[in-house]
Parts: sequence; C-alpha cells; structure tokens
Amino acid sequence: VGAENAEYLISKIRTIPGFPKEGILFRDFMPVLADARAFGVLLDALEAALPVDPNDFDAVAGLEARGFLFGPALAARLGKGFIAVRKAGKLPPETVSQHYDLEYGQAAVEIETSAVHEGERVLIVDDLIATGGTANAASALIEKCGGKVSGFSFVMELTGIDGMKSLQGYPASSLITMP
Ligand code: AMP
Repeated sequence: VGAENAEYLISKIRTIPGFPKEGILFRDFMPVLADARAFGVLLDALEAALPVDPNDFDAVAGLEARGFLFGPALAARLGKGFIAVRKAGKLPPETVSQHYDLEYGQAAVEIETSAVHEGERVLIVDDLIATGGTANAASALIEKCGGKVSGFSFVMELTGIDGMKSLQGYPASSLITMP
C-alpha cells in the first residue's frame, strides 16, 4: 500500500490506555472506519497480506464484534461469503459452541450449525490478536462444524504475547505490530 498510506492508516488507530482495565492499551479501529481513505488502505493492505491465495479458501469468517467490521468488507472484495462467529447466547438454535479460557474465567463462541458447509475452506478475520485464545476457539469451532481453516488475517498483533505462535502452524498474517 506504500509507506505514506501505511503511515496514514496507523495515524487513524486510536489508543486508549487503561481501558477496559488498568494496564491495557486498548487499540480502537473506529476512526479507521470513519475515514474513507484509511478504510480503503486497510482493506487494500488486508488483501495484499492474505496468508493464503484467495483461490485456496471459500469463505471469510469474522469474530464478533470487530471482526464483523472488516470481515464482510474483505469478503465482498474477494467475492466470498461471510460467516459470523458470535459470542455465546446471541443465536437461535441450532448452534455449535466452543469454550475457551480467559485470563479470569471462560468465554464461548458460537456459530449456526448450518453456517459452515462440510469441507468448506475458511479464512478467519479479526481486528487484533493478543493471546490467540479467541482465534483458536474460532478455529476449533469451524473444524467442529466440518470446515477447514485456511488461515488467519489480523489487522494488529500485540507484541510480547506470542499469540501468532499459538495458531499451531496455520498460515497467518497481521498488518501492524504494537505493544
Ligand atoms: P485474545 O483472545 O487474547 O487473542 O484477544 C483477542 C480479542 O480481544 C480480539 O477480538 C480483540 O478485539 C480483543 N482485544 C484484546 N486485546 C485488545 C486490545 N489491546 N485492544 C483492543 N482489542 C483487544
């Protein structure tokens, strides 16, 4: 996308220290979406950095909530459908769930049973990878439904946590690395 565009995109990411709790640098991508140029650059960059050839996946899955902002836009550009991976309790039955551990307690992600076709190859998209817990849960969920994970696309990867390494050898890309 070029150095100037990359710099512009990064300038639109807002950082809120201490949200949602002390010690966290919350990375806010809403100003990127609000800005036509930055949003266009972001989609160009995601497309250019795809961890696998677009011919090697059939659909894009996005993680609630911020994977819902970029995932469908990227899917539409690539001529793919979109699969919503939701937080537990939002979807009517029948659903398949995958529980995962958080720093304190547990969470779960869910998908409609019919949302993934047998053998469907899926690219998973989210705004940010920290520990990788959410991404790994989404991956397990898609495979439980008979799909095959082709890879992961993230906008940002947090440094010093090794979330990318937790993805067990799946192809993965991130555009920006920050603490
Ligand atoms: P993890 O499961 O630890 O990889 O966390 C990734 C999920 O939590 C993503 O869906 C992110 O949107 C969110 N998240 C984690 N850390 C941050 C952060 N510093 N700023 C914004 N979102 C975050």
